[in-house]
Amino acid sequence: MNDLVKLLQSASSVAVFTGAGVSTLSGIRDFRGKNGIYQEYDADRIFSLDHFHRDPSYYYRMTRDFIYNLDEKQPSMVHLECARLEQLGLVKGVITQNIDLLHQKAGSRRVIELHGSPKVHRCLRCNAEYPFGWAAEIVKKGRVPRCKHCDGVVKPDITFFGEMLPVGAIEEAAERASEVDVMLVLGSSLVVQPAATIPLYTLEAGGTLAIVNQGETPLDRHAEVRLDDLEDAFQQISRHIRRPSS
Ligand code: ZN
Repeated sequence: MNDLVKLLQSASSVAVFTGAGVSTLSGIRDFRGKNGIYQEYDADRIFSLDHFHRDPSYYYRMTRDFIYNLDEKQPSMVHLECARLEQLGLVKGVITQNIDLLHQKAGSRRVIELHGSPKVHRCLRCNAEYPFGWAAEIVKKGRVPRCKHCDGVVKPDITFFGEMLPVGAIEEAAERASEVDVMLVLGSSLVVQPAATIPLYTLEAGGTLAIVNQGETPLDRHAEVRLDDLEDAFQQISRHIRRPSS
C-alpha cells in the first residue's frame, strides 16, 4: 500500500482537483504538454473571444476534432475511480480545469468546472441554450451552429481568453476545498489561476494536500504525499479503498 492509500483510508472527506493529465489517459491531448494542442494549433486564437466574434467558424473548424468528437472518448480509470469514491461517500466533489465532460460521463455527480464547459452552448444574441450534442452534430458537418430563434451565433460555455472565469464555480471550489480533510490534486501542474490557489484553501483550513502529477508543481513542498504516476496510484486505490460510506 502506498502513502496515498493510507492517507485516503484515514480521511473522512476528500476533494479531487483535476487537470489535463487525467484526460490524456483517455486519449485527449493536453494543451501545453509535449504533444499538446499548442504545438499544432494557435490555441490563443482558437479560444480568443475577440477572434470568435470576428470569425466563429475558426473556433468550430479548429476544435471539431478535439472538442466536438468528445462523444467518442471514454473516461479513464482515474475518472471512474473518482466517481466510485464519490459513491462511497469519501469524495465530496471534483473540481476540474478540463472541459471534456469525462468526469460527468464517468458518473461523478458533483463536478465544478473552473474553465466552463461545452455541455451548454448559448446564443450570443438572445441567450437561448443548446446542448452539446446539438452543436456537435452541426459542427461535424462543417457548419457554425446558429440559433433556431434568432439566427445568432452560438458559443460554447467554455471560458475564452478575454472572458471572466466563472465566479460562481471558483467560489464553490474554494468552499469545497476548505471543507475537506484531504485535497487530492491529479494531473495538474497548478500553474494557472485559480488552480494555483484553490488547494491552499484546504491547507489554510488545516487539511492535507496530496499531489499526483508528472512534473513539478509550485505546491509540492506543501504536499504530504507526492507521487508521479497516476495509473499506478489509482491501481492501488481501486484495490485498497473499499470501505462503505461512513
Ligand atoms: Zn438567439
